[in-house]
Amino acid sequence: MVNLDKYSSIFVANWKLNGNSSFLKDYYEKLKLNSNNCTIICPPSIYLKSLKTNNENLFCGAQDISSFKEGAYTGELSASMLKDNNVDFCLVGHSERRQHFSETNSSVNSKIANLIEQNIIPVICVGETLEQKDNNLTEEILSTQIKNGIPNSANYKNAIIAYEPVWAIGTGLTPSLDEINKVHDLIKNFDQKFINFKVLYGGSVKSENSKEITELSRVDGCLIGGASLKVEEFNKIIS
Ligand code: PEP
Repeated sequence: MVNLDKYSSIFVANWKLNGNSSFLKDYYEKLKLNSNNCTIICPPSIYLKSLKTNNENLFCGAQDISSFKEGAYTGELSASMLKDNNVDFCLVGHSERRQHFSETNSSVNSKIANLIEQNIIPVICVGETLEQKDNNLTEEILSTQIKNGIPNSANYKNAIIAYEPVWAIGTGLTPSLDEINKVHDLIKNFDQKFINFKVLYGGSVKSENSKEITELSRVDGCLIGGASLKVEEFNKIIS
């Protein structure tokens, strides 16, 4: 399993449903890694094997995984199949999966447990919608997502949490720096066991705001969607 404590910051690129072989080749040639950081690229699963990650600062991650281990589940990929293909990380519970694919805290919980069993580090996405934020429900929503979605086997060495306010994803909107730091602090203090967890921020991170966000005391890195698709922009973010 990757030793997360070796890195000063962690950056995750979520390509979502974008990219192809030539995009990947070009991206890889232009990618400029920072030797202090852990960079994780999450392409669509079919491209996971094409990413050359024999570098201690670059890893690949899947964008989702089955909640089942094996069997008659057409279209699914299991945690053991990811392991078999040297995948070290996997996003779990991304808001797009919760919204469009009926992901629940319970399925998130099973997925994380399966990944941890295979020594794959889940990047566990949590976050509130705008309506929930406006109704002062952020703390309650995050607490439920964390309590019901994260199995007991998760700890700060084998799992990462990403705080991604749903209203900030792909919108160009972000919480204030103070809000981000406060929410991360809240997450780390929900329970004694979360204090040392790496907590990443995600939602409209770009080169103009990544430095100030990453420098916040309670932020351990960023999860980047749209801006990770432009390699020059992503290079600036991870530099
Ligand atoms: C994401 O998809 O996890 C994300 C943070 O997207 P964006 O950076 O485009 O807001």
